[in-house]
Amino acid sequence: MISVVQKTSARVCGLVLFLFCSQSGSVAEDVSQRMVLTEAEPKYVRNLNYPEKWYRVLKKGIDTTRDYLGNYGPLCVYIIGQEEDELKSDEIAEKIIDAYCRNRHGKARDRVQDCLERKGGSLVERARDGSTEAYLSYVDFLDKPLAELVFINPHGFPMPYLHTRGIHEYAHVFQRAHDRTPTWLTEGGAEFLAFYLGDKHDWIDFEKSMKKSMRMANSVENGEATLVDFEDVGKIEKERPHLKKYYRHLAYDAGAWAVALLIHRSEGRSVKQFTKRFYPMLGEKGWRAAVCRYGGYEDMNAFYSAFAELLEKPAEEQMKMLRAIRP
Ligand SMILES: [Zn+2]
Repeated sequence: MISVVQKTSARVCGLVLFLFCSQSGSVAEDVSQRMVLTEAEPKYVRNLNYPEKWYRVLKKGIDTTRDYLGNYGPLCVYIIGQEEDELKSDEIAEKIIDAYCRNRHGKARDRVQDCLERKGGSLVERARDGSTEAYLSYVDFLDKPLAELVFINPHGFPMPYLHTRGIHEYAHVFQRAHDRTPTWLTEGGAEFLAFYLGDKHDWIDFEKSMKKSMRMANSVENGEATLVDFEDVGKIEKERPHLKKYYRHLAYDAGAWAVALLIHRSEGRSVKQFTKRFYPMLGEKGWRAAVCRYGGYEDMNAFYSAFAELLEKPAEEQMKMLRAIRP
C-alpha cells in the first residue's frame, strides 16, 4: 500500500465551502485501483446555508468509523441539502456542481463540461426535488481512484439513523481498499458495523437493530429468495428483477446477520479481528475461500445452510449468539 500525497486547495466562497479533492498529488506508481491508507483528511463540499447540524452528525459518524477502520482515501464527502430554499440560488448550485465536476475530472475540460451538464447538475436537481439519498460512488477512471460519499438532503433520514448512515457509507470506503465481496457481504458488513459502532456511541441499540433486521430477513415469502440470490445485485436486476424488492431484506438485513454468524464462528469471535484479518484474506483466493476459511466451513453450501438454520432458531438463541460476539 502507498500513502497518497494530496494537494488540496480550500476556500470559502460565498455560501459554498468547497475543497478540491485534487488528483494532482504526485505518486510514483499506481499499484492498484483501490482506496489506500492515507494521511489526508476527507474533504467536505457542502452548501453552508444548509443547517450545520446535519454536517456535524454525518462527520461524527464518518470520523468514528475512520478511527475504527483506519483512514482511507482519497475521499470527498458531498452534503447537499435544502430544508427551505437554500439551493434556490443558481450561484450556490453552480459552485457545488463545479467543485464536484472538477474533483472528478481535474483538467479534462470536455469531461468537466459534460459533468456540469449531466451528473453534476443532477445532484442539485435531486436535492431541489426533495430526494433523500446517501451513497458511495467510486470514481475509477482517474489515475488514482477517488471515493465520493454523497449525501443529499440528509435531514430526511430519520434520527438517530443519520449517524449510522455515516458509518455504513464509510465502511464501503474501507471495503474498497480490499478485494470485492458479494452484495450481501458488502451491504451486510457495512450494516453490521453501523449497528455495532452506532451502539458503542449510544446512537442506536445494537440488539434492537439486529432484531429488526431479523424480522425483515424472515419476512421474505417462503423460499422466494435467500441470501445466495444476493451475491450479485446487478445480476438479479437483469435476470430476476421481481426479486429486487428483497434487496433491503436480504443484502442488508440478512447480510448483517450473515456477518454476525461469520464473526461468531471465527476463532476470537472478535469484530475488530474481522476487520483486520478477514478483509486481507479476500485477496488470497477470493471471497468464497475467505468466508470458508474464516468461519471454518467446508464450502459455501455449508455456510449458507448454517445461515438458513440460524434464521429458523428461536429469538433467544439468536440473541445468545450476538452476545457471544466480542469487541
Ligand atoms: Zn451500502
